[in-house]
Amino acid sequence: MVKICCIGAGYVGGPTMAVIALKCPEIEVAVVDISEARINAWNSEQLPIYEPGLDGVVKQCRGKNLFFSTDVERHVSEADIVFVSVNTPTKTRGLGAGKAADLTYWESAARMIADVSKSDKIVVEKSTVPVKTAEAIEKILTHNSKGIDFQILSNPEFLAEGTAIQDLLHPDRVLIGGRETPKGQKAIQTLRDVYAHWVTVDQIICTNLWSAELSKLAANAFLAQRISSVNAMSALCEATGADVTQVSHAVGKDTRIGPKFLNASVGFGGSCFQKDILNLVYICECNGLPEVANYWKQVIKVNDYQKNRFVNRVVSSMFNTVSGKKIAILGFAFKKDTGDTRETPAIDVCKGLLGDNAHLSIYDPQVSEDQIQRDLSMKKFDWDHPIHLQPSSPSSLKQVMCVWDAYEATKDAHGICILTEWDEFKTLDYQKIYDNMKKPAFVFDGRNVVNADKLRNIGFIVYSIGKPLDP
Ligand code: NAD
Repeated sequence: MVKICCIGAGYVGGPTMAVIALKCPEIEVAVVDISEARINAWNSEQLPIYEPGLDGVVKQCRGKNLFFSTDVERHVSEADIVFVSVNTPTKTRGLGAGKAADLTYWESAARMIADVSKSDKIVVEKSTVPVKTAEAIEKILTHNSKGIDFQILSNPEFLAEGTAIQDLLHPDRVLIGGRETPKGQKAIQTLRDVYAHWVTVDQIICTNLWSAELSKLAANAFLAQRISSVNAMSALCEATGADVTQVSHAVGKDTRIGPKFLNASVGFGGSCFQKDILNLVYICECNGLPEVANYWKQVIKVNDYQKNRFVNRVVSSMFNTVSGKKIAILGFAFKKDTGDTRETPAIDVCKGLLGDNAHLSIYDPQVSEDQIQRDLSMKKFDWDHPIHLQPSSPSSLKQVMCVWDAYEATKDAHGICILTEWDEFKTLDYQKIYDNMKKPAFVFDGRNVVNADKLRNIGFIVYSIGKPLDP
C-alpha cells in the first residue's frame, strides 16, 4: 500500500490531501505540521480554515485513511511519497528582501526528510517555489542521503481559495514535472497513478522540472495581470463615462480573451499573487532581464494604485474628510467564501481611512475580530523600498469596531465600503440600512455587488468601481 505524507497542513496541504484520501481509499495519507494548534484544529469539529465542502470530505476520511499529526518525522520516514506544502513567503531581510521567496521552511523540511528517511522516496514540491528550486532540494537531499534515492517532482497546486474542493475534484489540469531520467520518469508515473484515480489522463500534463516550477509562477502572474488590466481600465472608465462591466463583457466575448477574471475591483489580495509576481521579478533580475522584471512589477503597482484610488475616492466624495465619521466596512477577507485575510485589499483601505481619522465598523461573516485587529496592527512591508511601514497607531485602532451583523455595522454610519463580494451583501435590506444611516448616505462598492440604480432610488449616493459617477 502506497503511503503519502504531506508536510504543511495549511490552505493547500489540508484540502489537497483530504481530496487525495477521498479519491484513493487504499492510500494512507498523513498530513503533518509543526503547528500543534493547526493539527488540533484539523482533528476537531472546527477546522482551521473555512472552505465550502471541506468539512464533509474531511469527516468522511479522517481516522480511516486520512490522519493529521504533529509527529512529522515518523510519518515522513514511513511515507513513499512526501509532498511538501510549507509556506514560501517573500523575504523581508537580506539578499533579495522584498522580492525573493523565503525558502527557509522548505530547506528545513528537506533537511529533515534527509535525516529521517530510511527508504527511497519521491519528494513532491507542492508549495509554489522559484524555478530551479528542485536543483537546490536535490543537493540538500543527495548530500545527506546515506544511499537513499530521492526523486524530486514539481506538482504545483492551482486551486483557488473559496473553491478549493471543487478545483481539486475537477482540476483544469494537473501538472507534474520531473527529471528526464528513467528514475525520474518512473516517479512521474507513480504520482500520475495517484491522480488518475479521478483525473483523466489528458488533463495530466507532464513536463521537465523547470517548466512545471515556472508554469505556476506564470499562471499566477497572468491571472493577476488580468485583474490589473481590468482595474486600469476601470480608472479610465470613471474618467470617461464608460462602464467597466460593459467593457469587460464586450472584451471578454472575444474567444481569444474569454470572459473569466475580468471583474473590476478594489484590487487583488491573497497570499499568492503579489508574492509570486515579486518572486518572478527577482528571478528576471537575477537572470539579467530588467525589462521583463519591470513589466511584471507594473502589475503590482497598478494594484497598489487601485487601492489608493479607492481610499481617495471615499475621502474626496465625503467632502474631503472622513475624520470622526463612521464608515461601515462590509467584507474583510480577500475574496468571498474564505476567511483568509492575507494581503487582503481591506487592510490597505482600512489603514488609509484610519489615516484620515475615520471610525470603522467592520463586518465579515468569516473573519474574527482578533484577526482584523492583528492585520491592522501589523507593520506592512513595502516591497518597492524594502522597509517596514509603520502600523496603524494604537489610538487609531481604538477607532475600529468589529461587529457580527451588516445592519449593526451600518447603523449611524456616514458611508459604507463594500470590500469583499460576499453574496449576502447583494440581498441586504438597503432601505432599512439607509433609514438608519447619517445623510447623505454613501455607498462605495469596491466589488460591484449592489444594484446601484436601486440604491440611488432609495436615496444613497453610490460609487461603483469603474462605473459612471453618481449623476
Ligand atoms: P499556509 O501558511 O496556510 O500553510 C503552510 C503550513 O506549513 C503551516 O501550517 C506551517 O506551520 C507549516 N510548516 C512550515 N514549515 C514546516 C515544517 N518544517 N514542518 C512541518 N510543517 C511546516 O500556506 P498555504 O496557503 O497552504 O501555502 C503553501 C504553499 O502553497 C505556498 O508556497 C503557496 O504559495 C502555495 N499555494 C497556495 C495557494 C493558496 O491559495 N493558499 C494556492 C496554490 C499554491
